Amino acid sequence: MEPNHIYQYSIINALMAGVADSGITVSQFRHRGNQGIGTFTKIQGELILLDGKVYQLQASGEIRTAGPDEQLPYAVATNFQPQQTISTKLKTKDDVDKVLEDFDGHAANLFMSYRIDGRFKSLKSRTVRGQEYEDQPLAELGSKQAVQDYESIEGTIVGFRTPAAWQGFMVAGEHMHFIDQERKVGGHVLELVSEGEVSFGVAVVNNLHIELPTSEKFNAAKMVTDDKGVKGIEG
Ligand SMILES: [Zn+2]
Repeated sequence: MEPNHIYQYSIINALMAGVADSGITVSQFRHRGNQGIGTFTKIQGELILLDGKVYQLQASGEIRTAGPDEQLPYAVATNFQPQQTISTKLKTKDDVDKVLEDFDGHAANLFMSYRIDGRFKSLKSRTVRGQEYEDQPLAELGSKQAVQDYESIEGTIVGFRTPAAWQGFMVAGEHMHFIDQERKVGGHVLELVSEGEVSFGVAVVNNLHIELPTSEKFNAAKMVTDDKGVKGIEG
């Protein structure tokens, strides 16, 4: 994988339509980059790929390392090589946008990938609990997600910024997953405040590779872009 290309398997609209019972294997996905995010079959929890390892952030609050044959219905990876790494304070999640904007204000229609390492005064994350019936739409899982508040927690955030026009293919705007230093807890980031300065590495991405599922379910699904629905579950 070339540095700072994005590889993605399937699209968010497929997950929104509940297409989540198969996908690429963890071992295939691990070759697509050194960091990434995604989910598991039946939308069971959140995925984070960090330094070549795939972790499942479960709704129970616990983390497990995924086995090579497990399947991923939606996942994004990049071979992240930061073009710049800065030390900065983050007072809110919106400050992430500001850092990206300061790094390159001419990338509004390009993608960005980033990695944030450090200690957070507070961090709110969520993990989805998984489908309760076959092909349950992702938007229905919003009310059942497990939300956790952490205080003074050290760890790493893997994130992607996607231009608004790509909503439904990916998650428009910021999409970040967190894992703590001890690899014990984590999830999809909802809010954050850094404790002092964190290390923030960033890269602009203008190459995408999207692999679509060929399954019966993927082709039978009615896919539409539900901007409000995606923001509700992924915001
Ligand atoms: Zn997520």
